[in-house]
Amino acid sequence: MKSQPIIQEKIMSKTKELVDWTFEKNCLATVKALKKNEFTALYCQTAKEARKYIIREAADAETIAMGGSMTLSAMKVAEQLKKMGKEILVSKGPGITPEEGMAIRRRQLSCDLFLSGTNAVTVSGYLVNIDNTGNRVGPMAFGPKKAIIVAGRNKIVDGSIETAIQRIKDRAGPPNAKRLNYDTPCAATGFCNDCNSPGRICRIITILERKPKRSDLRVLVVNEDLGF
Ligand code: SF4
Repeated sequence: MKSQPIIQEKIMSKTKELVDWTFEKNCLATVKALKKNEFTALYCQTAKEARKYIIREAADAETIAMGGSMTLSAMKVAEQLKKMGKEILVSKGPGITPEEGMAIRRRQLSCDLFLSGTNAVTVSGYLVNIDNTGNRVGPMAFGPKKAIIVAGRNKIVDGSIETAIQRIKDRAGPPNAKRLNYDTPCAATGFCNDCNSPGRICRIITILERKPKRSDLRVLVVNEDLGF
């Protein structure tokens, strides 16, 4: 008779296989729709594969900016780019004054390569984001010579734009507000109440329905959970 741990292991592995298979279908359908909407879109089985693509595309970029992204942090992209000697434009951190931060944000708008996650991507191929300042969603639409957006499978929304916006406010708003120490109700409760707080981080909603006309915008859809 097989031992209990072996049976458990087999169940876990079968569960993973089926979950991955389902998400693969979701990712592939999303890539197909993104392409139909004129984006350059690629399916990546793993975050490692997506990172390799980014590193290859970064080879000829001198200035690189990143939208605050837990997806990119999880992929350890910045560490790799720094090793390559790339200039990473970071607007916040120890020793950076508010004036310097603003100057860097302006430079981010015209960098060689802009990298970001996305708050949501619909199965119909729309990129939906909510931003506070605009220096993350702005360069997605225009400015940098090239932009690469990474969408983990957990960002796929099989529904309308309204559903995507709700997903962002429910799933991304509260943890982001908490991570950034904003004084918002969601940072305390974990729930969005569409607040009217001065610290509100949900100020700009962008929907990219088609690839912006003059931008080299690529989307990597990854069959792994990345960010939130
Ligand atoms: S609207 Fe307010 S409460 Fe809702 S996620 Fe945004 S900051 Fe949080």
